[in-house]
Amino acid sequence: MRKPIIVGNWKMNKTPSEALEFMKGIEAVLTGEEGADYGIGAPYVDLDVCVRNAKHLIIAAENCNEKDSGAYTGEVSVPMLKEVGITYCIIGHSERRTYYNETNEACALKAKRLLQDNIVPILCIGETEAEYDAGKTADVIKTQLAGSLAGLDAEEVARMVIAYEPIWAIGTGKSATKEIAEDCCRLVRDTVKALYNEETGEAVRVQYGGSVKPTNIKEYMACEDIDGALIGGASLKVDSFKEIIDATK
Ligand code: 13P
Repeated sequence: MRKPIIVGNWKMNKTPSEALEFMKGIEAVLTGEEGADYGIGAPYVDLDVCVRNAKHLIIAAENCNEKDSGAYTGEVSVPMLKEVGITYCIIGHSERRTYYNETNEACALKAKRLLQDNIVPILCIGETEAEYDAGKTADVIKTQLAGSLAGLDAEEVARMVIAYEPIWAIGTGKSATKEIAEDCCRLVRDTVKALYNEETGEAVRVQYGGSVKPTNIKEYMACEDIDGALIGGASLKVDSFKEIIDATK
């Protein structure tokens, strides 16, 4: 039985004092008895304040470097995240793939290193609008998964979260229909089954992301192969994230 997992991705938003305010507001409504995991992906400088004020929320980093230390100006390593108390880390977000050249190969190395320290990678994949229009969605999903999971064994992949986020639905208000989201999340699971085995595909948690809001979260969560959501804009305000929690707990 897969436990649902709903994670907000703040992207490059919120100063530490704003993060603290949000944490207080959300923790006040969580009891830990919910049937789902709830979390927030926050910028590096907010992570410490988020972890210190988290009782029930999972706190995720939005990126990491696969190397442990060295001359890599501006980068943050997995041991650094571990010491701050981070338990999840988003990798391969489409914005990082597009603006910072994050490749499938880099995702595979990051996932491997995170899993070594028991930090759960939330691997993002998804096609562009042009690829969707050209009917290439399935090919993109399969290629990104094969590349981003390279070198990982079945036990490692079973512990991961994979977020299917069609780029045309991110920040556009144009969310995928529940049919498209479910078909693609099922394809993610089937691809994991084909690359590994049945049990691994059944164990991996698959999220949908792209313009998820309080008004549409329930229809995604009702789909068999959708185990949760990765949420941008609607995770920034306490009120809307609360509404999402209320709709899913
Ligand atoms: P929006 O929910 O703002 O569309 O963002 C989705 C996303 O990119 C989450 O990682």
